Amino acid sequence: LKARFATTVEESFSRARENPHRAFLSVATSPKNPGREFADWGLLAQERGSSQLSGVPFSAKDNLAFRGLPMTCASRHLEGYLPPYTSTAVRRMVEAGAILVGKTNLDEFACGSSGETSAFGATANPRDPTRVPGGSSSGAAASVAEGTVPVALGSDTGGSVRCPASFCGVVGFKPTYGRVSRYGLADMAMSLEGPAPIAATVRLCAAAFDALAGPDPLDATTAGAETGRALRAIREFDGDAAGLRIGVVRSFFDGVEPTTAQAVRAAVDRLRAGGARIDEINIENVAAALPAYYVLCYAEFSSAMQKFDGFRYGRGASGASAGESTANARTLFGAEVKRRILLGTFVTTSEHAPRWYARARAIREALAREVENALEGRDAIVGPTMPFRAFSLGSRIRDPLAMYASDVLTVVANLARVPAGSVPIRVPAGTLPVGLQVIGARGGDENVLRVMRAVEATEGVVAEWGPAA
Ligand code: GLN
Repeated sequence: LKARFATTVEESFSRARENPHRAFLSVATSPKNPGREFADWGLLAQERGSSQLSGVPFSAKDNLAFRGLPMTCASRHLEGYLPPYTSTAVRRMVEAGAILVGKTNLDEFACGSSGETSAFGATANPRDPTRVPGGSSSGAAASVAEGTVPVALGSDTGGSVRCPASFCGVVGFKPTYGRVSRYGLADMAMSLEGPAPIAATVRLCAAAFDALAGPDPLDATTAGAETGRALRAIREFDGDAAGLRIGVVRSFFDGVEPTTAQAVRAAVDRLRAGGARIDEINIENVAAALPAYYVLCYAEFSSAMQKFDGFRYGRGASGASAGESTANARTLFGAEVKRRILLGTFVTTSEHAPRWYARARAIREALAREVENALEGRDAIVGPTMPFRAFSLGSRIRDPLAMYASDVLTVVANLARVPAGSVPIRVPAGTLPVGLQVIGARGGDENVLRVMRAVEATEGVVAEWGPAA
């Protein structure tokens, strides 16, 4: 009988090549000397710092550049493109001793919540292959949930690591904006996003964060960023919920599917029983977060996509005029990418910007203040990560608004630029995973990971992830 999880580096590589859920778009060459076994993933990151990543295989979302491996962003437009540089995030994982196994599938240019907008076919959810794994870091979460790698790099603009982590039953963490370098991450919406780890356990997620965080001269938004100390913060408390001050946000439960809401409420009750101080609070602007997010995202995305003019990124000049070349190149984009470019152009024209772009920015600031106030005197605020569990492949992809509705609870943290993570919690046997979302104050990443570890220790569902029996 095959073990649920790879326990050697060689096994990670062979599983990535088998690619049972279409999690990988390319596989690296395996190292000649793969080194020690890494069977004890949970303990790996327990001891000293990020050196615990030494010898641990990881995957990287295919919108993070690694020199020598193709980077497609799951778009036909970049098919065959070989980046001449390596992203800081992947480089830092490699410097910490982790071994890059391959590049993972995603929604095209990270636009989506299901993995289905990939030009190279959707990834299946290892927990139920008829369901979506969530997106946009679809392959990243699946590569961990299927047991190929214990840790993966994704990116999160509006929920792209927390959504698939929640749907696949693994851990995802979006750091504070500006603490992890975006250098070498293909832009989607630059004021909202950053590289972000997904892992089998909170400790591994923390080890990856510690390896990633800190200033990078190649990304000015990281100037003065503190380096990561999450493993140490976790070790001081390890999993103890006693004394944690946690606010449960009432408006995070609006419209949430009842069994998901119930699972989250029950997990909060267990934290209370473990000694956490729980109180109920509200955030008024939650309902406005989603439309504000999409307007800002469209605007930034359409601007970022102007560089795909048909001449650069390996496409070369074709003798066509600039206009023709751009038009030709754009036929290579999928429907969601085209929609966002068009709408982004619309909301930023001088005629429409005051009504759309400027208002969205004002909502963002109001929401950020509200989140900041809610965190005053608390370690974290919590709620469900997603309003529902993983849905069936094909069930939402033709209805953009139904797809966007997935993101209602995750976009809040990106708009407010604060750290947020998702941890799997207990669910009735035979049902799909549910994630609890933990949101903390700006720069308080270590504290969020500490609370996430308390949730993980209280829930004890770590051993249950992996392909359903
Ligand atoms: N699902 C969201 C969107 O489609 C977030 C994507 C992301 O975080 N990259 O915009």
